[in-house]
Amino acid sequence: MPPASRVPADSAGDVCIDTIATRAGLLCIQPLYCPLRRDTAAGPCYEWVMLIQCVARYLLRIGARHPFVNRVARHPAVVRSGYLFATFVGLVWGGCLSVGRLEEEKGVIVARGCPRWAFGRGGTTIGAVYLTCDNDSPDVLEHEAKHRAQWKHYGLAFVPLYLAAGPIASENRFEVEAGLAEGGYR
Ligand SMILES: [Zn+2]
Repeated sequence: MPPASRVPADSAGDVCIDTIATRAGLLCIQPLYCPLRRDTAAGPCYEWVMLIQCVARYLLRIGARHPFVNRVARHPAVVRSGYLFATFVGLVWGGCLSVGRLEEEKGVIVARGCPRWAFGRGGTTIGAVYLTCDNDSPDVLEHEAKHRAQWKHYGLAFVPLYLAAGPIASENRFEVEAGLAEGGYR
């Protein structure tokens, strides 16, 4: 049997609040030290990414403490509505920014030719819509179709769940489930 955690649930929440405060404080002075970090592996956005991850984890912790919130978030009607809303947002975002027609391929609606600031990494799936510039090989579309299935399964709760899983693909269970090799991760 694994040893019990030495951090009780409540104080773990406090630790998280402290971490959020610390990271938010670091962000205030980030413009001062950002140029110095541009060549580091962490990159200039490291603190932002970690802050977002910490906020997402904190929100999930709140949800876990309140069974009612949990029940509502998991209700099939709420999940379905969240998925449809995300798809609507993806269609509007992709419809406005992509080049050419939106086409359904390999289980996702692909919006090609989007500017690179409009999505993360090589492309981003929002609901059923995959936004990308030109990263659309069959393997990648297969990977994104699995993200679509994750959206369908979790609804809008997928956002904090994905962010809380962290920015490192090999440690993010949703990326691992979608297939690291297919997604172009090494
Ligand atoms: Zn992915």
